Amino acid sequence: MSDQNSDQIRALVLRQGEEKSTLAAVENLSVADLPDEPVRVAVDYSTINYKDALAVTGKGRIVRQWPLVPGIDLAGTVLESASDEFAVGDRVVLNGWGVGEGHWGGFAQQQRVKPEWLVPLPAGISSREAMAIGTAGYTAMLCVMALQRDGITADRGAILVTGSTGGVGSVAVALLAQLGYEVHALTGKPQAADYLRELGAAEIVSGDEWGERPRPLEKQRWAGAVDTVGSQVLARLLAEMHYDGAVAACGLAGGFDLPSTVMPFILRGVKLLGVDSVMAPRERRVAAWQRLDSDLPRQLLEKIGSRVLGLDEVPAACADLLARKITGRLLVDPNA
Ligand code: NDP
Repeated sequence: MSDQNSDQIRALVLRQGEEKSTLAAVENLSVADLPDEPVRVAVDYSTINYKDALAVTGKGRIVRQWPLVPGIDLAGTVLESASDEFAVGDRVVLNGWGVGEGHWGGFAQQQRVKPEWLVPLPAGISSREAMAIGTAGYTAMLCVMALQRDGITADRGAILVTGSTGGVGSVAVALLAQLGYEVHALTGKPQAADYLRELGAAEIVSGDEWGERPRPLEKQRWAGAVDTVGSQVLARLLAEMHYDGAVAACGLAGGFDLPSTVMPFILRGVKLLGVDSVMAPRERRVAAWQRLDSDLPRQLLEKIGSRVLGLDEVPAACADLLARKITGRLLVDPNA
């Protein structure tokens, strides 16, 4: 935790350079430089998400305010609060709400935020665990909750998780297996089969057909699915769902198009459940973090693995992440 009596804090700051380039550097700021928001939080950890990597490298149009402290999530402790909802010493987590895009985010020793963006961190989850789960794990939980709201119970049949070695996919595999579902894990990395089995996958799925356009309806294989890939993969998934099955779709790692037909919907009653973590209502976030506390064994988090970086190391790690050189989670300790 940063020294709450010190007026100086360190933060990664993005500034716009010549020809709209992005310049990222660690700067010393004063607390008075932070945004004028009601709750001041000492940041214990943040994480590097795909969106953060795009923002820091300037490779994606993520930044909506210059200068910007990036970091779309954070976990920490309230230092000062002008809100009745939070008191000094409360442990909190923040995911999304445009933080790290249009509002200053987690790559700083302290940040000032709106109370409605904060969720109380369940007592059983440390700040470090919260960020090892991160926005990816919280999104995986939202997907599981969407399937359960739709009545997809473990006795209905196998559940497919796509992009299963990724941040969202790996936590989805672990959560669903822990809840008693038979989880099948689709991956483009056959060498990751042992890792996925350790997380709880019963079967590893791969094959050239996942890169090909499916027929409007294929053999029924899945009672439910968590899709992080989109495009052709989601199209095949829809064509392979059981009658009355449901897909929780949250990602576009393979593309944002959906080359599908209406046939799965109108002939098999298949449901496509959209999942968004950024603007999800607060009650759903609170429920998701409580469920992560009760349903995600901490040893599975250790199996997923994480590396802790200081602020100075963030820009290079962001470039590596976009170059697909990273496995496991990247935590950011702004006090390192
Ligand atoms: P990661 O990069 O950690 O994982 C994505 C996984 O998808 C990869 O590990 C890989 O898994 C697979 N993959 C990658 N590229 C391709 C490709 N071209 N075609 C097919 N599969 C591919 O990302 P996250 O898990 O953090 O995020 C997954 C997706 O979810 C992203 O699109 C992200 O933007 C989105 N997301 C959405 C949120 C929301 O609120 N809706 C919140 C968080 C993330 P494998 O090698 O095992 O096949």
